Amino acid sequence: MSLLLFFIDGLGIGSRGTSNPFDGLEDAAPLAVFKNEPPATLDGVMVSTDACLGIEGRPQSASGQTTILTGVNAPSLLGYHKQGFPNKALLEIIREHSLFLQLKQAGVAPITFANAYTKRFFEDRPRWVSATTAAVEAAGLPFRTIDDLRNGRAVFQDFTNRMLIERGEDIPLRTSTEAAEVLAAVVSESRFTLFEYFITDKVGHAQDMEAARAVLQDLARLVRELLARVDLTRTSVILTSDHGNIEDLSSRNHTLNEVPTIVWGANRDSIASRIKSLADITPAIVESLTEKATASG
Ligand SMILES: [Zn+2]
Repeated sequence: MSLLLFFIDGLGIGSRGTSNPFDGLEDAAPLAVFKNEPPATLDGVMVSTDACLGIEGRPQSASGQTTILTGVNAPSLLGYHKQGFPNKALLEIIREHSLFLQLKQAGVAPITFANAYTKRFFEDRPRWVSATTAAVEAAGLPFRTIDDLRNGRAVFQDFTNRMLIERGEDIPLRTSTEAAEVLAAVVSESRFTLFEYFITDKVGHAQDMEAARAVLQDLARLVRELLARVDLTRTSVILTSDHGNIEDLSSRNHTLNEVPTIVWGANRDSIASRIKSLADITPAIVESLTEKATASG
């Protein structure tokens, strides 16, 4: 069995209305899910997932992503929701409990973080790194590079490559279909793959309706094209988010909404049944990839 975790920053389950870019948006399945409506998940099972984790205030990226990638309720440990990048306390949690490390110690291999990192990251390491960067490093795994991207072995977080081209990289634009082909090939060679996408959160903070609708259509197409290319008889796909944002453009802040966790493919129902909050994602993944009953299937 193998598994893909598809992380989308800032995607919650909102109400219909003029401030929700999903309302009236065509071709937005399976991402367009609304409160109190059955979701069009394309054969997936959706779990409305708690991102507030019992702590007051708006959920934030550093503590939410730490929770997703460790199974530890990070806001509860800190006593608050931590914005942006992990601080020392979160880094300690990640170093000890990283999903990548747990899988590695359980003998799951190969493990792949499918996002390409630019030369700038390796040459001029940023002082603050994301929860994912820290989680990958905790397991001593390599990062994929722009050369990997050129060779069809990685995807940039902006899977269209537009942001890279704007930064001067000599790289062709990718359609959602082309990015899905690359990601599906990476998934087929790995037991566990993570891909993460952040532009949804950025566009949500900018409250840019036009950009939000364009980004969501592209992203939904990527997910659909990916699901069509992955062998779902032996692969589980889990899509989740750290907090709401883009589903309500009336505010520049994150929302208190639940986030959609959607599970497709192998072990779909058993994985979905284990998930209630963001803290359940890592244990569900580790169990699914290490259970004797499914390890040979
Ligand atoms: Zn944000």
